Amino acid sequence: MKTKYLQFNDNDLNEAGRLIRQGELVAFPTETVYGLGANALDVSAVKSTYVAKGRPSDNPLIVHVYDKKQIYDIARTVNVYAETIINELMPASLTVVLPKKAVIDDCITAGLDTVAIRMPESAEARAFLQAAAVPVTAPSANLSGRPSPTTWRRVSDDLDGKIAAILCGQPCKVGIESTVLDLSGEQPLILRPGVVTPDQIESVLKIPVKVVTNPKDKVNSPGVRYKHYAPKVPLVLDTSGDVKKLSDYYDGLSEQGFKPVLLVEDTSVYGNRSVCCIGRTDVEVAQNLFENLRVLENKYDYIIASFSSKTQFADSILNRLIRSAAQHII
Ligand code: AMP
Ligand code: MG
Repeated sequence: MKTKYLQFNDNDLNEAGRLIRQGELVAFPTETVYGLGANALDVSAVKSTYVAKGRPSDNPLIVHVYDKKQIYDIARTVNVYAETIINELMPASLTVVLPKKAVIDDCITAGLDTVAIRMPESAEARAFLQAAAVPVTAPSANLSGRPSPTTWRRVSDDLDGKIAAILCGQPCKVGIESTVLDLSGEQPLILRPGVVTPDQIESVLKIPVKVVTNPKDKVNSPGVRYKHYAPKVPLVLDTSGDVKKLSDYYDGLSEQGFKPVLLVEDTSVYGNRSVCCIGRTDVEVAQNLFENLRVLENKYDYIIASFSSKTQFADSILNRLIRSAAQHII
């Protein structure tokens, strides 16, 4: 298949919308990462998403909407917590999990009785979703397991020739995926941390939210079980920022014949070792994280990442790094 590269003008947006309604796959930018869109009301389109990405079919998809009214078309019940989140926080880099209506097929939810719903903040994403005029399922637009794409070129690297079109927008501002908040039960649960923090959610809900992001926790979020965000080369993670320890680790790998790189906060203290700045602030670290992994995997054969920030937002970055490192923490 020849992938079309569409731009943000009325003509191309209409074309992107038409392709979605015809059952084709269209990748599009959001503020978090690029998504791989399909018409959520078209079962065969949704199923083709799993094929294009090589995604396990028991990992459910998030349904994207541009208008709050659409949420009530796909959620069976919107409890008072959900209503508060919808009214006070949306649109946002936040996904809510709610009981699903029958219009949402089991292939979207991997058989769960709930559906994950997001209304993105970015103007580009909303223009696309409005042009589609149907709810759109969209996982990240990468091959399953790879670092998520934050530019249209990275979508092209993974999916060119496999999908109908890529809508070429801006690089993603947030850079990591949405916070997933389960509001389908008695207590609000954060199933995946993101830029919308537990504090922000608690401050609007006025009750404690529980963070359950450990794969060992028995929660109904299949996605947390899978290998994720892995660069092609091994990545180890340090959370101390200890320069001597990191330098020694680097030297040990060099002596074994590896060509390592340090992905660190302060690049000025490692002499002539190969270094790359992970970012000066949490916001910058998140923005560049997946792109850094995709650049470094092509130049080096071992990535030593160090990230020691301790904010709630940093927790969500750390969650991605731990999974990129396949739990290999030094
Ligand atoms: P992705 O779109 O690739 O960023 O992944 C979507 C995430 O949302 C995965 O971690 C899924 O497990 C999670 N998710 C999607 N639908 C549901 C649902 N109905 N209940 C719980 N988690 C969900
Ligand atoms: Mg993903």
